[in-house]
This record gives sequence, structure tokens and C-alpha cells, in this order.
Amino acid sequence: MQYVQKCPVDSRIIDTTFPALACPVCRTSFCMFPCVESLAAKNKKCPTCKEFEMRKLSEILQSVRYLAKLEELKAKGDVTNMVYGKLKREYEERNRDAIQRIYG
Ligand SMILES: [Zn+2]
Ligand SMILES: [Zn+2]
Repeated sequence: MQYVQKCPVDSRIIDTTFPALACPVCRTSFCMFPCVESLAAKNKKCPTCKEFEMRKLSEILQSVRYLAKLEELKAKGDVTNMVYGKLKREYEERNRDAIQRIYG
């Protein structure tokens, strides 16, 4: 049986259809938007372990947001393929670095 995890903030079932982020201390998963985002913005600690400062996940949130924005611009034809490719690599690298630093 698969273990079902719910976001402790809004009880949404965590699956692969939307981005989620786990607390590196207690491994509880939260919906990236809006739950992690709003906890980070309010400078709150993880509501489960009350140890991890959620704003430390801001870097990951930001690179994910940039990537989504970039896809939007690409869909509208507002960026050239070259610029798109360059920015995508840059944001993905930033995202990987942040993940490595936080979870690595
Ligand atoms: Zn949530
Ligand atoms: Zn936690």
C-alpha cells in the first residue's frame, strides 16, 4: 500500500501533479505553492518539527518561480530559443545548487 501524505497546512494530498517541498529536518512534505511560500514569507518555522526555518527554502521557490515565468514567456514567443535555453540552464543550476545546500 502506498503511503499517503497530506500537507499539514491545508491537508492537500501530496502527489506528483504539483510541486511539493519537504522539510529537511522532519521530512514532512508541503505544497510548494501556496503553503511553503506563505510560511516562508511569514518567516515561520516548519509547523511539524518547529525547528526548520521555512524561509531557507526561498531560494528554491524563487528558481521554480523563475522557471515557470520563463516557460510563460516562451509560450508567448517573448524570448528567443537561445535566451530561453541559456536562462533555463541558469535557473535549473541555481535550483540544483539550492537543493544540494539544503538537503545535501
Ligand atoms: Zn499545502
Ligand atoms: Zn520540519
